[in-house]
Amino acid sequence: MRTLELAHAIAPDLVALRRELHQIPELGLHLPLTQARVLEALSGLDLEMHQGSGLSSVVAVLRGGGAPAGQGPVVLLRGDMDGLPVTEEVDVHYRSRHEGQMHACGHDLHVAALVGAARVLTELREELAGDVVLMFQPAEEGPGGAAPMIEEGLLDVAGRPVDAAYALHVMSSEHPLGQWVSRPRELMSAVDRVKIRVVGAGGHGSQPHRALDPVPVLCEVVLALQTMVTRTFDPMDTIVLTVGAIRGGTADNIIPDDADLAATLRTFSPRTRETALTAIRRVAEGVTAAHGMTAEVGFDEGYPATVNDDVEYEAGRQSAVDLFGPERFTERPEPEMGSEDMSFVMERVPGAYFFLGACPDDDPASAPDNHSPRAAFDDTVLADGAAWLAEVALRRLRRGEPRPPGSLAE
Ligand SMILES: [Zn+2]
Repeated sequence: MRTLELAHAIAPDLVALRRELHQIPELGLHLPLTQARVLEALSGLDLEMHQGSGLSSVVAVLRGGGAPAGQGPVVLLRGDMDGLPVTEEVDVHYRSRHEGQMHACGHDLHVAALVGAARVLTELREELAGDVVLMFQPAEEGPGGAAPMIEEGLLDVAGRPVDAAYALHVMSSEHPLGQWVSRPRELMSAVDRVKIRVVGAGGHGSQPHRALDPVPVLCEVVLALQTMVTRTFDPMDTIVLTVGAIRGGTADNIIPDDADLAATLRTFSPRTRETALTAIRRVAEGVTAAHGMTAEVGFDEGYPATVNDDVEYEAGRQSAVDLFGPERFTERPEPEMGSEDMSFVMERVPGAYFFLGACPDDDPASAPDNHSPRAAFDDTVLADGAAWLAEVALRRLRRGEPRPPGSLAE
């Protein structure tokens, strides 16, 4: 296949780019060195370039020559660009030169693969029956770059709405080198943080009748939340609510003024997520009010669930099978409880998200996971990653049809 040949022809460039990026990991929304390197790598490709204003994103539009200007579908390919606050322990000659920062989630490979796809698709420009939007995104690891890029016009940058979106993520463990992994529908969960503070009135531990003790009330809230989860939701609709921290008081004989907890909420369906947030507030306030105290409830909204569109998932799977053979694709039986802000794009546009095994080790089961200071990624997968991104875009444009109404992942 042409995409695979073209991608492999530029493999040494992609490896070199990845290793350069690996040495200069940057965190969060502002990645000036990474952004500059991406702009340099794309220069000379005849793309319409846009840079973010509130974050150092890069959006490049490749106009296909296989359809009249302004016609045909628009396909988005995404690569996240940020590193993590981790001190690298991998012993490679291109290790991080930024103290306390590391590309421990392999986003340096995502950038290089997306640059590769841009180069491959530029070669195939006359076959492209529509336009391709290349999304280079900061801050996937937090505070989130996809949502602000959408606010800055990402999904209309081509002059008409994006019809389909694809992304890949490399894995340093779990899957063998070169293995493609995904599943239909729900792939990764939504995540939200919950904070609850019970406000009572402190006093002497020997005089509870002269105080309002928040400690047993907070304990009741924890238990009531667990009962709420099991009695409110369909057992087949996964939800996890874990109270990971509780805090209250300073000594055995002092009733504190307040006590608080922090919890993580993981859900897949938007309806379950909304219901859970409402119910958490109701339970916390209700239990606390029953004891004559008040509750302060706060939510820190994270990322929505990552849900593959049926049609785009199948297109991604078929592309992987055709490019690399059926033995190199595995369908995950279950979703996973991680999360990813590509979900903001895939809430609005039918899309597909695939994992790519990049473990340099013979034993992926025991290799260090993404985010570990010892996470190592084998960049021999880069050309395959670039080929897959280019192939799914090419096929989607060839398929032609605009996105069916109501096809959004829900
Ligand atoms: Zn990541």
